[in-house]
Amino acid sequence: MNQTKGHFIDLHTHSYISDGTYSPTEVVQKAYDIGLYAMALTDHDTMYGVKEAMEVGKKLGIRVIPGVELSCAYRKSEVHILGYFLKDITEERIQAIQKDLEVFARQRDERNEEALARFQRDGFRFKREELYENTPKKMITRVSFANVLVKYGYVESVPEAFDKYLYLGGPYIPEKKTTVQLGIDFFKKHGLFVSLAHPYRYRFSEEEIENLVDEMTRLGMNGLEVYYSTHSAEETAKLQKLAKKNGLLYTGGSDFHGLNKPYIQIGKGLGGLQVPKAVLDDLDKVDL
Ligand code: AMP
Ligand code: MN
Ligand code: MN
Ligand code: MN
Repeated sequence: MNQTKGHFIDLHTHSYISDGTYSPTEVVQKAYDIGLYAMALTDHDTMYGVKEAMEVGKKLGIRVIPGVELSCAYRKSEVHILGYFLKDITEERIQAIQKDLEVFARQRDERNEEALARFQRDGFRFKREELYENTPKKMITRVSFANVLVKYGYVESVPEAFDKYLYLGGPYIPEKKTTVQLGIDFFKKHGLFVSLAHPYRYRFSEEEIENLVDEMTRLGMNGLEVYYSTHSAEETAKLQKLAKKNGLLYTGGSDFHGLNKPYIQIGKGLGGLQVPKAVLDDLDKVDL
C-alpha cells in the first residue's frame, strides 16, 4: 500500500503529443500508479492530448487538469509560461483554446523549417522525415533535432547536441516570436491560470528573475512554479518568498518527459520532489 496516496500532485508533465515519450494515457496511468491525487498535462504549445488524458483520469479516479506550456520571447532569451484550465471545463472551451494555440504551433513549424534549412546549408545530412520519427502528432521540438544529431553521430548525446548546436541565441535556432505579453494575454483571454515555469532554468540573475516576475505579475500572471525537479530547498524557499511578495500562488511539477529525460520521474522529479495537494486547493479558490 502506498502510504502517500492522495497527498501529492504534479502540475507539469509532457506526453508524446509534444516532446515526451509516453502517450497521454500512459502518463496519467503513471501518475495514478504512484498515488498522485492530481496531475496536469502541459505539452508544449498544444492541448491536443488533454481530452484523452482527462478521459483516462476519469476512469482511473485521478484528477487531470488540462494545461499547456508556451515558450515566449523575453529580452533575447526565452521563458516558459504554464497555463491551467481549472474551472468550467467544457469540450467547447478546450476546443476554442486548441484552435487558437494553432497559431503558436504554426510559428513553431516555421522556426523548425528555418532551423532545418540552416543545418542543411551547413552540410548536415539528416532529412525532414527523420525529425518526425516518434512524434505521433508531428510536434517537432529541439529534442527532435537532438535525437537526429545523435543518430547521425554528429554528437554523442542529447545534452551535447544542445550545448553544441541547439542552444538559444546560437546559429541554428531562430528566436521565438511570441512575446511574454502575448502569451499571458492569450491565456487570460481563455480564462486560464498563468504561472511562470522553472524560474531558475533561464540562467538569469536573482535580480533578473525578480524583474521578470514583477513584469509578468503586472501583465496578469497568477502563479509561480516554486516546486520543480531541480530546485534546491533554498531555491524553493526564495521563490516562495518572491511569490508572496507579488501576491502569486505556488505551482509545482516535475517536467516529466518520459525517456527523453529519464532521470525525471513523474511526481517525484529527481527523487525528492513533493508537491502538496494544498497547492491545488489554493488554485481552485482563484476567480478566473
Ligand atoms: P523547443 O520548445 O523546440 O525549443 O524545445 C525545447 C525542449 O528541449 C525543452 O522543452 C526541453 O524539454 C528540451 N531541452 C532543452 N534544453 C535541453 C538540454 N540541455 N538537454 C535535454 N533537453 C533539453
Ligand atoms: Mn520539453
Ligand atoms: Mn519548459
Ligand atoms: Mn516542460
